[in-house]
Order: sequence, then structure tokens, then C-alpha cells
Amino acid sequence: MKENLVLATRNRKKQQEMEQLVDGLDLQILTLRDFPDCPEVIEDGATFVENARKKAVEVSLHTGEMALADDSGLEVDALDGAPGVYSARYARGEESTDEENTQKVLDELGNAPSSKRRGRFVCAAVLAKDGKVLFSTEQTVEGVIASEPKGKGGFGYDPIFYYPPYGKTLAEASPEEKHAVSHRGKALREVCAYLKNQSR
Ligand code: IMP
Repeated sequence: MKENLVLATRNRKKQQEMEQLVDGLDLQILTLRDFPDCPEVIEDGATFVENARKKAVEVSLHTGEMALADDSGLEVDALDGAPGVYSARYARGEESTDEENTQKVLDELGNAPSSKRRGRFVCAAVLAKDGKVLFSTEQTVEGVIASEPKGKGGFGYDPIFYYPPYGKTLAEASPEEKHAVSHRGKALREVCAYLKNQSR
């Protein structure tokens, strides 16, 4: 029988991306929808890795299964690394929409030239079982914050994340193009490599 892997996120779009990225592993993929009474994990860590570790450990303990958590966000150099770990709740706390968060970053950058709009997406991915961390990685993708949103794909800050090698935002890229270069794509490929190595 295949071993189970629980994806420890309630963000539907992120869950969708994670499912696509771990596709091909010889594991039964479950989500938190399969564990409706799993308590909400408070993301109060100061770093992406701390938050991902906390989510993976707590979900593995609650479900009794191997759990994969990611914590991710946008860092903008000119904003001293903000929104950072507050990416999901940047505009007005837990209720913030992607559009509001995106607009806040655009407002804060104002008319800054592209040389002052450098940023990156960061993704920490942690795999845990029985409350113990099995594997942990942090990966990034570098880009430039555009002056206005463009594209309908992806989620979160993708419409304002211009990726110079593609000449477009990650919301204008196809899912395959995004996965090939994204912070989450890179991090989850490392997790997959670890899991494949373990099953040999
Ligand atoms: P988390 O659920 O606490 O990890 O928050 C992640 C937040 O960072 C999301 O709600 C998005 O606002 C942002 N974010 C993370 N990854 C991406 C991405 O791939 N594209 C766009 N925004 C992202």
C-alpha cells in the first residue's frame, strides 16, 4: 500500500500548485480537506522556515501521516524585505485579498524606477513525520516588481512579479513555465528528490 503524504495548506491555489509539483511520487497525496478537524496552525514564526517547520510538525502529529508544509512570500528590497512572512496578511490582516496586498506593495513603491524594484519570492518547504523534521529547504526566484498588475494566472503577487528571463509576469506565464523557475517549484523538486532517494 502507498504511504500517505498530507499537504499542509488551506490555500486552494497553493495546494493546486503543490499537487502538480509532487505529482509522480509513489505516494497517496492527501490535503487538509481530508482532515477537517486539524487545528489551524498559528504562523507566528519570524522566518519562512520557522513557520513551515511548525506547520509540518503539527500536521504530522495531528494526522499521524507524513506532512509537507510550505511557507512562502514576497521580499522587496526597497521595502526592507517586506511583506516577507506577512505576505498573506499585508494589507489588513487575515482578511486581506490578493488584490489589496498587491496594491499596497505598488502604492509603497510609487514611481520608483525598475532598478529600485528588485524582489524575490521565497519558499521554505519542510517535510515531517511523527513530529520530527525529515527534510527542509529554502529556495528563491528573483524578479522585479512591475508598475501595474498583468496576467490572470497563478495567485497572490504573481501579477506584479515581473520575471526578466521570460519578459512577463508570473501571472502571464503558464503553470509549467512558473513551476520551472519558481521558488515553490525549486523547493518541491528538492523534496521530491529526497523522497525518491529514501524509497530506493
Ligand atoms: P503563506 O500561506 O503564509 O505561505 O502565505 C503565502 C503568501 O505569499 C500568499 O498568500 C501570497 O500572497 C504570497 N505568495 C507565496 N507564494 C506565491 C506565489 O507563488 N505567487 C504569488 N504570491 C505568492
